[in-house]
Amino acid sequence: MRHVHHYIAGKSVEGTSGRFGDIYNPNTGEVQAKVDLATEGEVDKAVEAAKAALPEWSTTNPQRRARVLFKFKDLLEQNIDELAELLSSEHGKVVADSKGDVQRGIDVVEFACGIPHLQKGEYTEGAGPGIDVYSMRQPLGVVAGITPFNFPAMIPCWMFAVAIACGNTFVLKPSEKDPSVPVRLAELFLEAGAPEGVLNVVHGDKTSVDAILKHPDIKAVSFVGSSDIAQYVYATGTAHGKRVQAMGGAKNHGIIMPDANMEQAVKDIVGAAYGSAGERCMALPVAVTVGKKTGDEFVERMLDSASNLKVGISTDKDAHYGPVVSAAHKAKVEDYIRMGAEEGAELKLDGRGHTLQGYENGFFVGPTLFDYVKPEMKSYKEEIFGPVLQVVRAETLEEAAALPSNHQYGNGVAIFTSNGRAAREFAAQVNVGMVGINVPIPVPVSYHTFGGWKRSAFGDTNQHGPEGVRFWTKIKTVTQRWPEGDIGDQAFIIPTMQ
Ligand code: NAD
Repeated sequence: MRHVHHYIAGKSVEGTSGRFGDIYNPNTGEVQAKVDLATEGEVDKAVEAAKAALPEWSTTNPQRRARVLFKFKDLLEQNIDELAELLSSEHGKVVADSKGDVQRGIDVVEFACGIPHLQKGEYTEGAGPGIDVYSMRQPLGVVAGITPFNFPAMIPCWMFAVAIACGNTFVLKPSEKDPSVPVRLAELFLEAGAPEGVLNVVHGDKTSVDAILKHPDIKAVSFVGSSDIAQYVYATGTAHGKRVQAMGGAKNHGIIMPDANMEQAVKDIVGAAYGSAGERCMALPVAVTVGKKTGDEFVERMLDSASNLKVGISTDKDAHYGPVVSAAHKAKVEDYIRMGAEEGAELKLDGRGHTLQGYENGFFVGPTLFDYVKPEMKSYKEEIFGPVLQVVRAETLEEAAALPSNHQYGNGVAIFTSNGRAAREFAAQVNVGMVGINVPIPVPVSYHTFGGWKRSAFGDTNQHGPEGVRFWTKIKTVTQRWPEGDIGDQAFIIPTMQ
């Protein structure tokens, strides 16, 4: 059986813990490979490698660092098909969607190629007599990223591309469910010209995460995953003196106004709710319709669209989406469907027990649609992370907008309307971090910045874009003068520029 090993100092390193994680083929339900789960000592080895690479990398001029990222971008583009197939084989999303995952990563690498421009400091000539003040953005040192299963190409790139372009060296702890693409990224990064040890990958579970959070030589940690773990990572990492950003779960709402282009809204929402089997933090699993007529029309059209979706294996070119990631996840999603029905929501389409001929043990969940979901229901309050769309009925925009604003999660939200004034007001008022106006999945482009609010993100700095550069650098401010002749009296009061 294939084994996925750690990748430390530019080499594949076999694990020594004797503990392994199963990597499934979600289409068949079979274990297709094993992944090493690291010990504390193995995390330490990766940190040592990153530490050894730091002095040279952090003092390499920014343009030369950027050239490695340029080359890396080129290699990712050359290998996008192979990467997408590998990604699909462990994650289960259809290959075209995996290409999107890799492409979104490439977009961030492309952004990182321009980081020398953003890392420039500021300068004031003559802030006082003969005094100049300037600032520099310096790398933090050895830093780490801990990533979820659902975007094994894009999310590692959000973190390491920006951090490394800024002069840090990196330890990546990817999801143990689909770890092969992150290792491949590290191999390609070395091929692009990064010195050994600049990007290291250790696989593992809580043991390795805790080792990262407590390691005295790791200066910052970026995390993306579910909210309870994000909160734990934030609390533990900061308690150990680290800078931490920790993105969590989501429950994104799409509001459909009576003046929305209904055809567009349905087409957009069917993709956003069911694409990637709903396993996206920017999926749109809640539709809030405003007015009875809008609600009735939306549900009728959505039922028709969702019923006609093709669920297939990840290599099926005609499939709209593939299996979910694991048997445990399938069971969890099906449990939420049972809960929703028991709580009294109207189950219009039930995806439980979905099987595919020839792939009877695959982790498939059929498209599921609920109508008349109420905000008090547990199945509404929690993240399902599956191909389940819940429709909540509202009478007014105010009532509809209060739902995402009051929800525990605040990652993304969308409004479908032809009224610019209402959309503008909604975008300004809603208590959510990323807003789409007639855009169902408002993931900002790489040179803007990604991050939710409330329990969708702990910490105060977003991923990629200028915010990412701020997270991965610390600012140093220098006040200089070059006195000559009479150096004046001793000064006992705080110097001012009066
Ligand atoms: P997860 O929280 O189970 O795992 C994320 C990472 O944490 C993995 O690397 C995992 O190994 C590690 N981990 C798991 N259990 C741990 C524990 N007890 N202690 C320490 N570390 C632990 O998340 P997942 O299932 O891989 O990913 C799906 C979740 O990620 C969803 O909630 C989704 O909304 C969220 N997500 C959020 C964003 C965002 O930007 N807000 C993006 C993608 C995914």
